[in-house]
Formats: sequence, structure tokens, C-alpha cells
Amino acid sequence: MKGIVDRFDRRIDYLRISITDHCNLKCLYCTPFGGRDRLAHSEILSYEEIARLMLAAVQAGIRKVRVTGGEPLMRKGVVELCRMLSGIEGLESLTLTTNGVYLQELAPQLHDAGVQRVNVSLDTLRPERFKKITGHNLLSKVLSGIKRAEEVGLHPVKINTVVMRGINDDEIEDFARLSLKKPYQVRFIELMRTNGCGLDDHESLFMPVEEIVKVVRRVGELSLGPAVDSPDPARLCSLPGGFGRVGFIAPLSWHFCGSCNRLRLTADGKLRTCLFSEKEIDIKGPLRAGDSIAELADIFRLAAAQKPHGHSLDRTDIEKHFGRDMQAIGG
Ligand code: SAM
Repeated sequence: MKGIVDRFDRRIDYLRISITDHCNLKCLYCTPFGGRDRLAHSEILSYEEIARLMLAAVQAGIRKVRVTGGEPLMRKGVVELCRMLSGIEGLESLTLTTNGVYLQELAPQLHDAGVQRVNVSLDTLRPERFKKITGHNLLSKVLSGIKRAEEVGLHPVKINTVVMRGINDDEIEDFARLSLKKPYQVRFIELMRTNGCGLDDHESLFMPVEEIVKVVRRVGELSLGPAVDSPDPARLCSLPGGFGRVGFIAPLSWHFCGSCNRLRLTADGKLRTCLFSEKEIDIKGPLRAGDSIAELADIFRLAAAQKPHGHSLDRTDIEKHFGRDMQAIGG
């Protein structure tokens, strides 16, 4: 099967699928300010439609899929969707991004359905602070979910931590230490200013990645090599003696556009060519109009062909380029 190579010689083989725009947490940097109307059920792709689009995507050259949301584990039948996707010949990797609230009960079933790994978003290890950041008192459920994921072999569990100055930056060392004790990848993420999110003071909350690295170095020596052209957005390294790894994701300070390998499918059936571009290509219309798998595969190729070279945005102007809030894109 031939793959997709775009005009800038990047192999496009990774698709992030948002299966719902709904989330059970209200993280203060992600939830739209003042709320947002949820997509109508009829707007959202059904599982059969997603599976059909995946057949087309794989025909075009997609090899890796990440299921995301909103919160993907809130959508009924998500295990069955994963089973459908993992059964598609030619798909090499199926992973999922979650806030972990339902992971304790679903991890074994997800593993059994062919999910290989999970990323769990977790910004604090303190119960009261968890409530402050997410609006809910559910930290212990998330921690049990991470443990369960590890036990059933969804390995390595990746923990994504968005760092906010004055809110959770005093926990950077605690998170880094987690990678000493556990075989997790703990990845620190620079806060982005996204569309309409509830943060009214992004500038003062923003902590640049260089500063995050400095704090992690208090825990142990880090040999952070030069940024390499890798489709993995995280620059990874290990603390001495650690079972796990630490990583840094800085879409703006250290952007990885030169090796970007991804497309995004929104819950309402639009292909996005770049997280920071409002450009969306409708694939639900042709799908519902009865296009063949080969015709739909051409739409994936078209989207890849339209991927921009990169963004040259800085953190103050990205907001206007999202077009949607992060919950509706899937990260
Ligand atoms: N509900 C799932 C979860 O919590 O992982 C998947 C969707 S969530 C939108 C995907 C990722 O986007 C999470 O890791 C979240 O922390 C990240 N994210 C959302 N808004 C962000 C922002 N303003 N800056 C940095 N990361 C953000």
C-alpha cells in the first residue's frame, strides 16, 4: 500500500479522531468560556461512518490512529469502536487519549479490543487542586485508572501535564519523580491560548518550556539532546535511575512542524490539516452522499496535500487560528 508524502516531503500516516465534543471535566484551559452548544447527535459521525472513513484513510496511507475527544470514554460503545478499528488491515497502531476518569473500568476492555497505549491528561496530584482545575473531585478515580492501564499492559502509559504558573508549577518535581518510580512517560505541555477558553490571564499562567526543563533538572541530571526531526511532539529523556521517562511538548517554543505527520478528524466529520489552522475539509458530506472508499481515500490525500509547511505563530496570536475550542478538536 502506498503512503502519503506531502509537498514538503513529510510522510502523513497519523490520524487523530475526535469521537465526541462532549467532556465530563471542565478543565479551565480547555472548556469554552461561558459554555458551548454541543454538536447535535445527527452531526456526529456514527461508529460505522468512522470505521468506513478509516478504511479509506488506511487505503490512502494512514497507519496510526489516536482516538480522542472531548472525552472519548464517555461515548457509549467506544470499546466496540476500538475493536472495529483495530481489526482494519493495515492499521499498525491504535491509541487513545483520555482524562482517565473511566479508565479503571474500561482499561481491560480497551486492551482486549486492540488499543495499544493510552495517554492520560493529569495536571495535579493533589485532590483539592484537581477539583479547582477540572471542576470535579475525581483524582482518585484517575489515579486508579492509570494503575489499571499499567496492569493490563497499555504500556507505556503517557501522562500529559499542562503546566500553569501559579496553579501547578510547584508540582513539576513531583511529576518528574513519578517517572523515577513508575515506567510512565511524564510529558510536560506548554499552555496554549486556545479559542474562547475560560482562561482570562494566559500570559501570567504561561510557563515557557525552558523554565519547565530547569525545574525538572532539580530532580536529576537531564541530557536533553537537540530537537530532532521526529513525528513525536515530545522531546524525551530519562532521569538517572528512572523506570520511566520525562518529555516536553512545546507546540510554540519548539514546534515540530517540519516532521508533522498528522491529520485530524473532528467529531462532525471535518479534516483539519494543522492544529493551528482553521482550514477544514468536509469529508462527512461525501461519505453520507455515498462516495466509495477510493473516493474518500482521495479526500485524505487532498487534505494531506493542503497541509501547510508549518505555523509561524507565537503564543499571543494563536488563539485566532484555532477556529474551534480544543474540546471540539481533540488536542
Ligand atoms: N478528554 C481527553 C483528555 O483529557 O485527554 C482528550 C481531549 S483533550 C482536549 C486533549 C489534550 O489537549 C489534553 O491533554 C489537554 O491537556 C490538552 N489541552 C487542551 N487545552 C489545552 C491548552 N490550552 N494548552 C495545552 N494543552 C491543552
